[in-house]
Amino acid sequence: MTVPLLDLQQQYRALKPTLDAALIRVAESQVCILGPEVEQLEKTLAVYCDSKYALGVSSGTDALLMALMALDVRAGDEVIMPTYSFFATAGAVARLGATPVLVDSEPLTFNINPALIESRITSRTKAIMPVHLFGQAADMDAIMTIADNHNIPVIEDAAQAIGSQYSDGRKLGSIGAMGCFSFYPTKNLGAFGDGGLITTNDEALYIKLKHIRNHGMEPRYYHKLVGGNFRLDALQGAVLNVKFPHLESWHAARRANAELYTKKFIAAGLATENGSSEACGGFDADNTILLPQAVFQHSGAKNHHIYNQYTIQTPKRDALRKHLADNGIGSEIYYPVPFHRQECFAYLNARDEDFSVANCLAAHSLSLPIYPELTEPQIANVVEQVAAFFRA
Ligand SMILES: *Cc1c(COP(=O)(O)O)cnc(C)c1O
Repeated sequence: MTVPLLDLQQQYRALKPTLDAALIRVAESQVCILGPEVEQLEKTLAVYCDSKYALGVSSGTDALLMALMALDVRAGDEVIMPTYSFFATAGAVARLGATPVLVDSEPLTFNINPALIESRITSRTKAIMPVHLFGQAADMDAIMTIADNHNIPVIEDAAQAIGSQYSDGRKLGSIGAMGCFSFYPTKNLGAFGDGGLITTNDEALYIKLKHIRNHGMEPRYYHKLVGGNFRLDALQGAVLNVKFPHLESWHAARRANAELYTKKFIAAGLATENGSSEACGGFDADNTILLPQAVFQHSGAKNHHIYNQYTIQTPKRDALRKHLADNGIGSEIYYPVPFHRQECFAYLNARDEDFSVANCLAAHSLSLPIYPELTEPQIANVVEQVAAFFRA
């Protein structure tokens, strides 16, 4: 039985008549960029994300870039972020000539360690950019307290976390000054190409972002500032409008799949209920895995994890990955190289030993298939193959 990491065909087949009709509707209208489909999407997602405003943009990467531009981040400025994330988080800052200030991660949530943020703040710090990695909230209470004390805006990289909630129930992307989302096809809400969204509760930022999206132009052919072409295509808006009503049920299916994995891994003796209380690398034994956890936050409540990825940690990661591939099971390493080890950031002169948790995560993380259409026999097969690997 093969189990791909992701199977987008199934989602398309299930919605084919309405998706195809939406594509043709846009073709017939010949409103190709922005327009009513994008406006409808923005209205829907502003409500869904508990934000006053939402702006459809060209990609998640561009959403991050635009958010930084809206805060006038430029050469000489610094932006604090985790070292362990997808490249776009750091790339957006570096493209503006600003400096990514890298911080180590928490071992169980994979997210930025808030205890390490304050010491990195300087007079040049223009923003703090936490990432809600794999669909789970960073520790926003701790981050917002530090940010508010220093009067520094927070940009949430919520690319993997649309609809996800912090432990107190707040929607991710609505807590900081701006939330940035991606509609890349592998995200929980995926378009038929590139697309993204920025949310904010701040009217002035919204208006500025709207100008930035279209070359800083307002009114036509008069430019107050230098923006870019960051517009969202009508086709992507139409596809997303068809898919959105199913998003909550897809989240629920991912969460149910995660629960099933956890139950089966525990039943197979491969993990314990609460996993290791230690850091990454604090594995009880070599023949064990650490399950992803919706870690307890201050209030004692758990984050509402939407499992864009179901990511385990294990000491024998590379051999396990090969065994799974040999048996028709897809998996992926998110992410093998943290920012501080990237060639393009050598100029930061980061000290490798400052990032022991991220280095450990990069060496031990493995993401397993978690997409909504996954069946129980497929999940059982993945667990059985993991068990077979450790028995051998
Ligand atoms: C996907 C992703 C992005 C970039 O989104 P694109 O739409 O692919 O440009 C940024 N940050 C994180 C954490 C992501 O996962």
